[in-house]
Amino acid sequence: MAKTTNITQYECDRPGCGVKEYVDPSETASPDWHDITRIDRNNNEKHLLFCGTDYKEYLQFAENQDKNFDAWLNALTSKNDGKGM
Ligand SMILES: [Zn+2]
Repeated sequence: MAKTTNITQYECDRPGCGVKEYVDPSETASPDWHDITRIDRNNNEKHLLFCGTDYKEYLQFAENQDKNFDAWLNALTSKNDGKGM
């Protein structure tokens, strides 16, 4: 392969996945790539790039976490339902 410069490499950030794509500036990357932002318990932001497969898994995982968080957040009000403040 001849030498090619200025190519953008996409690589899934999930360790062990290994999905990669090389994109020439004149081309568009596959629409399967997704940038996500996660904020951990210490308010640290993480930016990750996922391939289509891992993004789908991530959405399912994140949906479950959202449900757990909402359940925890509203646990006191559901406990105190009907008792007033
Ligand atoms: Zn992946």
